[in-house]
Amino acid sequence: EAAINRIAAGEVVERPASAVKELVENAIDAGATRIEIDYADGGKRLIRVTDDGCGIAGDDLPLALSRHATSKIDGSDLLEISTFGFRGEALPSLGAVGRLTITSRCGDAAASITVTGGRAEAVRPAALSRGTRVELRDLFHATPARLKFLRTDRAEAQAIAETVKRLALAEPFVAFTLTDLSGDSPRTVFRADAQSGDLFDALHGRTAQVLGRDFAANAIPLDAEREGHHLTGYAALPTYSRGSSVQQFLFVNGRPVQDRLLIGALRAAYMDVLSRDRHPAAVLFIDCAPRLVDVNVHPAKSQVRFRDGGSVRGLIVSGLRHALAGAGH
Ligand code: ADP
Ligand code: MG
Repeated sequence: EAAINRIAAGEVVERPASAVKELVENAIDAGATRIEIDYADGGKRLIRVTDDGCGIAGDDLPLALSRHATSKIDGSDLLEISTFGFRGEALPSLGAVGRLTITSRCGDAAASITVTGGRAEAVRPAALSRGTRVELRDLFHATPARLKFLRTDRAEAQAIAETVKRLALAEPFVAFTLTDLSGDSPRTVFRADAQSGDLFDALHGRTAQVLGRDFAANAIPLDAEREGHHLTGYAALPTYSRGSSVQQFLFVNGRPVQDRLLIGALRAAYMDVLSRDRHPAAVLFIDCAPRLVDVNVHPAKSQVRFRDGGSVRGLIVSGLRHALAGAGH
């Protein structure tokens, strides 16, 4: 059983950044308004995510660690998923590839559980003022072959920051702090205060925090619809440049994705106004009825399959061109 868990875990947890993604998504699903992410040695030694969400009752801690146990669907509504999680795979996977401790408060009692290499210890009383803290230590130490495939601490830390920034764009009303604990004193890598106002205001403020004030000052709002698909977000004017860095953040029904169809459509929209060697900068959200898209292609959920890809491509190309033309491009 432990071996099977470790193999399956590899699909969900490829590297520290994928663990961070799962834990932050859980915090968002729990209704957190403030999420703190700490790591050490590129996440290989430590990943810790602390939230102020609803918490897990002590009695439910062992359940949260068992495979395919999720509190988020009842089995009847797989097509109407609104939470990030729905497979109940992340926590058992993390518990199989490292030393995982979950401390959580629900009501007025806090408890914790530790699982190492898939083996859980007993639930213990703990101290925590609110929410949940999940700590993952020594990722892949029991599987040196996997550890060897990780990149340098610096590269893994960069992937973590990228992941946190993507999720921060998707959740502008939530506060995020990312801290590197590798050195003698903690170093704040990224901080984004909770935004307020309507969604466009909040997202505009968040783009300034994530992509920089220069992006925000040069970004035009997007709001278009086609055949049940809704496009919102911000796209940078073609005159905006960030040198060689690629600033493309794509979301489908609130989930960060890196999808060829969407990236291709974004490029096509700028074809006439941006030289070929430059990448258009944009934060795009596509929202549609869950039945129009399959986000279930891969456990890491980064690829999606639209039922009507042509319509989505058309929406992005025409929505962006219309917005760019309106801004004089
Ligand atoms: P999934 O997110 O797919 O349900 P996970 O393995 O990620 O599966 O989590 C299992 C369960 O543990 C969740 O369904 C949820 O009930 C609980 N859980 C995990 N993380 C948190 C959290 N940060 N706050 C509250 N509950 C959590
Ligand atoms: Mg989850």
